[in-house]
Amino acid sequence: MADTIAAIATAPARAAIGVIRISGDDSLKICSRVFSSPLESRPREMVTGRFLSESGDILDYGMACFFKGPKSFTGEDSVEFFCHGSLAVLASVLKALFSAGARPAEAGEFTRRAFLNDKMDLIEAEAVIDLIDSETELSARNAAEQMGGALGREIGRISSELTAIAAEFYAFVDYPDDEIEQTERNDIASSLYKIADDAKSLSGTFVKGKLLRSGVRVALVGKPNVGKSSVLNALLGCERSIVTDIEGTTRDTVEESVSINSVALHLIDTAGLRDAKDEPERLGIERSRKAAENADLLIAVFDGSEAMSDYDMEVLELAKKKTSICVINKRDLESVIDKALFDGLTTIEISAKERLGTDKLSDLITETIGIAELPCDGKIITNPRHASAIDRAESLIRKAADGFAGGIFADLAVSDIEAAINTLAEITGNFAQDSVISEIFSRFCVGK
Ligand code: GDP
Repeated sequence: MADTIAAIATAPARAAIGVIRISGDDSLKICSRVFSSPLESRPREMVTGRFLSESGDILDYGMACFFKGPKSFTGEDSVEFFCHGSLAVLASVLKALFSAGARPAEAGEFTRRAFLNDKMDLIEAEAVIDLIDSETELSARNAAEQMGGALGREIGRISSELTAIAAEFYAFVDYPDDEIEQTERNDIASSLYKIADDAKSLSGTFVKGKLLRSGVRVALVGKPNVGKSSVLNALLGCERSIVTDIEGTTRDTVEESVSINSVALHLIDTAGLRDAKDEPERLGIERSRKAAENADLLIAVFDGSEAMSDYDMEVLELAKKKTSICVINKRDLESVIDKALFDGLTTIEISAKERLGTDKLSDLITETIGIAELPCDGKIITNPRHASAIDRAESLIRKAADGFAGGIFADLAVSDIEAAINTLAEITGNFAQDSVISEIFSRFCVGK
């Protein structure tokens, strides 16, 4: 018996419409005390009516829709109220529902119930959060595909290949180990190595997937006055960073997020990595170093109208160590810089001030990160929990393969295959611990 929960499902802001969700065995009974029109005989139909307080006052006019379990999001009897999007109205309708017997839903409780009622696996439930949190079309597309089960099917495919091999082995289990021919063992081992390779390439997508989900941290580095703030502003298309010609004005790091070619970039303008002259500047420099260290991409900016200084050479060395783009700025001025120093590095000449070459720089950034061309088909791993489970499964599969090839007792090798299958089942939630499940759903908002 599922108690009945209710929560506002739309954002807490003034809007045209606000939605309240109700789910649980008593949904209809509770809603009949708050909504004036009967819903039971009209499932999946939008029904107009009045929303009423406990004492019968009219709170709002709107619509309601009844979803009969199990054909609902949660798998239980559920109702959605479509009220006017006033926070006061929504709060009073919710209060009326609580007076009628519903209780406030906890964070993620609707989706948790959907998972517990087998309406979705854990990957699909987590994809719901990812979809809501998506900042760009690309990450939304990948999350939508995962919600549709694309990743679950891929994991299922690997899992069933392993099950088939384990089953094949059980055919041998009654025979002593020495009766399993070495050629047979080698065949099993090579199939396992192939599956391990598949698992590896799947978890390998996480390198890009994590950028897809959380955005790419791009740090702009370079000595003062080369035009870092101007480059940032050009990329943002607005004046966010203060541009001056007094050295060291960007005392702190400035962060801005922007979507370029459907990729979310978190741009960090640093104060420059030179020696500190005073305390606030020193703190700024410290933060810059960190920003550069933690960045996924470094944009190293140089002033093309000046010869390279020792400081510029330091920046160049930094650029060589990371995924980076060297921007030779101020191309509107006479070029003095020694371009040969940039051989072998991804380099572009622009004028941030005159906005020359800045569109090309945007394209070069997404090209260098290599996300824009990802097939966002749901088979890109974006969740660290999934990546780590696949990695663990891969090691177990390789251990089993080594075992078969090396002639250890076959039943030991097969126990590694079974452990790998269970590890993969953690991802979909078929073999996940309650604590893991609780942790996942606690990250949802109330009403989801
Ligand atoms: P930062 O200290 O590296 O952030 O440099 P700023 O963006 O504050 O720019 C320093 C100075 O260089 C300012 O006077 C800018 O107007 C100038 N500047 C920036 N980009 C260009 C450019 O492409 N061409 C020219 N001529 N000047 C630029």
